[in-house]
Amino acid sequence: MIFESPTPSLAACPRCGTGLAVDGNQISCTGCGSDWKIRNGIPRFFDPVYYWGEVPLGEAQSLQSDAQKHGWRQAVEKHFENDRVMAYSILQWQSRASWLPLLGLSEDATALDIGSGYGAITHALARAAKEVYSVEAIPERVEFTSIRLQQEGLTNVRLIQGSATELPLRENVFDLIVVNGVLEWVGEWDLGAPPQDVQLRFLRKVHRMLKPGGVCLLGIENRIGYGNFRGALDHSGLPYTSLMPRWLSSLVLRYSQRAHHRTRLNAKREYRTYTYSELGYRRILGKSGFGAVSFYLADPGYNRPLSLVPLQRNALAAHTLRVASEPILGSRPRWPRLVKLYLSRLGLLRPFVPEFVIIASKDVPDATRKTAGWRRAGAVPPGGMHLDEPSQYLSIGPAGTKAVIRIFGSGDSAPSVIAKASPSNAKADESLISAFRVLSSLQPRLSEERELPFSTPTPVESFSQAGWHFTVETAVPGRPLSELIFLRSHRGRLAFLRNELAQCVEIAAKLPHILKGTVAAHKIDPEWYEIPKGMDLGPGVERTLAAESAKWAKEELCAHGDFTIENVFWDKDAEKASVIDWELPIQGVPPLYDAFTLLFSSLPALDLEHRIISSTDERLTQQFQAAFFSTGPWATTNREILQRISTTPSGADSDIWQELVLSLVIRTRYFLWRQPSLGRQYSRLLEYAVQHEPLFVCGAHRSRRSTPSSRS
Ligand SMILES: [Zn+2]
Repeated sequence: MIFESPTPSLAACPRCGTGLAVDGNQISCTGCGSDWKIRNGIPRFFDPVYYWGEVPLGEAQSLQSDAQKHGWRQAVEKHFENDRVMAYSILQWQSRASWLPLLGLSEDATALDIGSGYGAITHALARAAKEVYSVEAIPERVEFTSIRLQQEGLTNVRLIQGSATELPLRENVFDLIVVNGVLEWVGEWDLGAPPQDVQLRFLRKVHRMLKPGGVCLLGIENRIGYGNFRGALDHSGLPYTSLMPRWLSSLVLRYSQRAHHRTRLNAKREYRTYTYSELGYRRILGKSGFGAVSFYLADPGYNRPLSLVPLQRNALAAHTLRVASEPILGSRPRWPRLVKLYLSRLGLLRPFVPEFVIIASKDVPDATRKTAGWRRAGAVPPGGMHLDEPSQYLSIGPAGTKAVIRIFGSGDSAPSVIAKASPSNAKADESLISAFRVLSSLQPRLSEERELPFSTPTPVESFSQAGWHFTVETAVPGRPLSELIFLRSHRGRLAFLRNELAQCVEIAAKLPHILKGTVAAHKIDPEWYEIPKGMDLGPGVERTLAAESAKWAKEELCAHGDFTIENVFWDKDAEKASVIDWELPIQGVPPLYDAFTLLFSSLPALDLEHRIISSTDERLTQQFQAAFFSTGPWATTNREILQRISTTPSGADSDIWQELVLSLVIRTRYFLWRQPSLGRQYSRLLEYAVQHEPLFVCGAHRSRRSTPSSRS
């Protein structure tokens, strides 16, 4: 990571561009003779006149010494305990660089990170590229990154203390240059010319440093993002300045008394942190020589790009709908979401999205050039599907280890192809490969079931490329139940439960029998039938669970394993359901496990009739009560659904109460493993269920069996 001899091959004199030679602790230009110090193995081309940063100098220094002593992660956790945004931006290197699978980098790529801060993106690049150069001006951050990389065992990074406005690097050498949160500041770092000229000079240099076919990735704010109209702070430290004419912003800055938290303002108090609208960026990037530019909405922001949405009406509408129907929002007012949704459908959201990720190619892309993973030769969707100028809408989970790329044909309102990507040699990579294998073995079998109005994605291809594993499958028709249910009114949701959801529950009850004995599925861990530690439901329940676990293990019924409203799609034209995400099919579960999973996952959609102000935790318990232990309309409907499925399939009776408890225990275990906060909520549902057995909506059903004593 550090400059050892021989001379770093890609460095060049920032003044005259000539090559450099290292001599002891000195690095010097063989052309003009300028020289700089090397300290801790890092060449110091730039000495800032003042410290600049998100945290005070003392804090930055103690962070560094803590990182050395206790490890960089622990140091960040400790120092930013009360600043989750900052902690996230340093720790979550994978999701900070969520855009990597869109770039189609090759194994031997060389990347450059300009303004690398505390090294999160550099860290991600080091895992994805062969060699990485990382430039940062502030010594405290350079030192921190150096410690971080050492502790991670990453040796392919060359750190440089340098200025973005005087880059000590050669031209025509990089495949990827990352300019994340930098372009808006360069006007402040070089006061010798108008800000736009400084930005233009900087971008031209970036353009020249790229190899032919190389790309520059920019993360930056939209000058007219909607947050700015509501008073979000601009880079100046004041609200609204980005929206004003530049001269007016300068005037306001000159006379403002406010503290400028993010920067020491230049002496003239001039507004120099220029941002632009989409059109403005297109103009300045074009002037800098870039051949092709694509824009993405980075949501929630470019420093936390959990979703990257192409600025096209179809993808923006799909994204807005997906966010609007996230279950956690289920009980909040619907209208703000609806407004955004309609704006996106009308194409009115595009100019005002708050933050961009921009991918700018050095030249006009050549059709023969290697493109992003899913489009490589061979990974062509089946059925002669041909996508002209497809747009790729990427989203990742908070852990950042799995990206889902929804690929839209131009003008299509729904994606045609879904690509998934995980970094190779990670756990996520294994689960991706196994999900593809499962789907490949199940899909032919399920497609033979003519009676069942049900389908799965068609697997297309699974392959590795440049440090990433990709799987490609067709998109299923229709929309996820979650998107169909949450935007409805209270009555609409109940009708949905009665009709579409009920049909999906029926399918869920049949599926484990159809998939019986599936080889590709994992056998359930017997522990998942045990009551989680710290819970006491009485010896009766424990005995029952043990007996049931043995019984169902023998049956070899196979469930999808995560049959939730997010994973189940409904095609209203064909009246057909599909389920995606075959990551965890499990064998040895009770027959109604998938059915209950679906019903449990629909709980957040239940509008509580008596709006009791309660915490999110309590709300789920209240919804559970209203759905299964009351006489309300939701519970009545659930009872009807449960009675209908209890005698299917093949006439086998199942004891509804017992299956509810069993499914809850397994679901609790599942979430304690995958999403502990939800697991704790589910364990409260379990307690509630056991304590309120006499009130269960299908109470009458259990008298048909003799065994199910759940309490002693
Ligand atoms: Zn020189």
